Amino acid sequence: MPSARAHDLITVLSGAALTPLAYRFYLDHIQLEPNTALTCSLWLGGAHLVSGIMFSPDLDIDSAIDNRWGIFFWIWRPYMWLIPHRAFWSHSLIISPLLRLGYFAAVVYGLAWMVVWLLGQLGFTPPAYHRELAAWVAGLVTAHPTQTWAFVIGFCTGSAAHTVADWLVTKGNWLLGSYGRRLRRRYRNHDQWIPRHERQRW
Ligand SMILES: [Zn+2]
Repeated sequence: MPSARAHDLITVLSGAALTPLAYRFYLDHIQLEPNTALTCSLWLGGAHLVSGIMFSPDLDIDSAIDNRWGIFFWIWRPYMWLIPHRAFWSHSLIISPLLRLGYFAAVVYGLAWMVVWLLGQLGFTPPAYHRELAAWVAGLVTAHPTQTWAFVIGFCTGSAAHTVADWLVTKGNWLLGSYGRRLRRRYRNHDQWIPRHERQRW
């Protein structure tokens, strides 16, 4: 499998190619105003990058990706425990990025709910932040459906660029025979994965 660095490069290059294509598509086929077409294509390109770099399919193992979340790395721990590595739930084209997005939204909602609950236990009566947050997102989605679609599509293409690269290397290994086996050996330590007992964090 390509390393995290190779995946980043693929994400950036495909994002750079996709954004102007999306702009043309929005102009010519959806007939959006140039300004809206620009906003939508930037949302699409931005989501592509965020999805590939921060929400990478390889979040299903303890990889270089989860380190990018810094002190928030633990957000992805339950995900890592639940999702089998490189299977359908993490490496499919549409379901897996949407699952990560939904998972992240659920975590943020849960955290907001916990803050409200804790403040309640301390005798405060805070506003229902979790519900306000959900209402704010729902409002954004309803007010800007085209931009929302651009974001969702970009989020899926960012993940797909990763999955397709993984597939190509796997298929390439098979097609290329002995050269492929050499490649596979080189990628055995992909994503700087290290066994749990050798990790410094623990
Ligand atoms: Zn992968």
